Amino acid sequence: MPKKFAIFGNPVEHSLSPKMHNCAFIELGFDGIYKQILLEDGVKLKDTFLKEDLTGANITVPHKERAYEVSDILDPFAKKVGAVNTLVLKDNKLYGYNTDAPGFLKSIEKFENIKTILILGAGGTVSSTSDILKESGYSVTILNRSKERLQQFIKSGFECYSWEEFEPKEYDLIVNMTSAGLSDNNLPAPKDILDKTLSTTKAAIDIIYGKETPFLKLAKEYNLPNFDGKEMLIQQGVLAFDYFTEHKYDLKEVEKIMREALN
Ligand code: NDP
Repeated sequence: MPKKFAIFGNPVEHSLSPKMHNCAFIELGFDGIYKQILLEDGVKLKDTFLKEDLTGANITVPHKERAYEVSDILDPFAKKVGAVNTLVLKDNKLYGYNTDAPGFLKSIEKFENIKTILILGAGGTVSSTSDILKESGYSVTILNRSKERLQQFIKSGFECYSWEEFEPKEYDLIVNMTSAGLSDNNLPAPKDILDKTLSTTKAAIDIIYGKETPFLKLAKEYNLPNFDGKEMLIQQGVLAFDYFTEHKYDLKEVEKIMREALN
C-alpha cells in the first residue's frame, strides 16, 4: 500500500504541491501518493487527516494556525512562529513543522552579498520569516500599508514603517510579501516609494507565483536580478519531503526533480 499525503487548503486547486511531490515519489522510487484536499472548516483538519489515513500533509492558507493547534509535538521553530505548514504522523502522534521560513531563507542564498532586506507586508508569512532572517544575520526592515499589523514586529525589535512614515534608504534586497498582485494588479506600495527603493537595490523577490506581478514587472524594468514565489515553493517542498520520507534522500536531487516538475 502506498503511503498517502495531501495538501489541505481553501482554495487549494491552484496548488502545485501534488505535482512536485508525486514527481519526486516516482523518480526516487518512494511508494507514495499525494493529493489535494479542499478543507472549508479548519476544525475538521485532524479528523480528515486521520480518516484519509495520511502519513503526512502540507497545510496552506487559511489553516496553518489550526495545524499548529492540532500538532501533538511541535518542532521548536514551528512553536516559535505559531504556524505549521507540514504535518507528519509518527507513532500515532502528529508532528508539526514549519518549512515556509527555512524555505524562503534557502531561496535567497541565490543572491550574493545581501545584508539588508526591505520586506513589504506584515502578514502571516512575514511573521514566520522575519525572525529566521534576523537570526541568520540579515538586517530586516518592514514596510506595511497599515500601522496595526506592525505592532507585533515593533515589539520584537524590528525597524518598521507604514507608508506615510517611510523615508526610502538603500537596501540590498526588496521582497514583496504582501498579497498585492495576487488576484489584482496592485503594487505593494506607492509607486514613488518603489521607484526610490528599486533604483538603489541589488535584487528583488516576489513570493507570489504563477503570474508576473506588477511588482516583479517593475523590478525587471530596473534590470534587477529577481525571482518569484516558485523558488520558495520549491524549497519549502523539499524540506517537507525530507520530513515525509524520514530524511532518506539527497535533497539536492529532490530539489532538481521538483524544479523540473514545475517547468
Ligand atoms: P496575510 O493575509 O497574512 O497578509 C497580507 C499582507 O498584505 C498584509 O501585510 C497586508 O497589509 C498586505 N496587503 C494586502 N493587500 C495589499 C495591497 N493592495 N497593497 C499593499 N499591501 C497589501 O498574507 P500571507 O502572509 O499569508 O501571504 C502573503 C502573500 O504571500 C500571498 O500573496 C501568498 O500567496 C504568498 N505566499 C507565497 C508562498 C510561496 O511558497 N511562494 C508561501 C506563503 C505565502 P495590511 O496590513 O495593510 O492589510
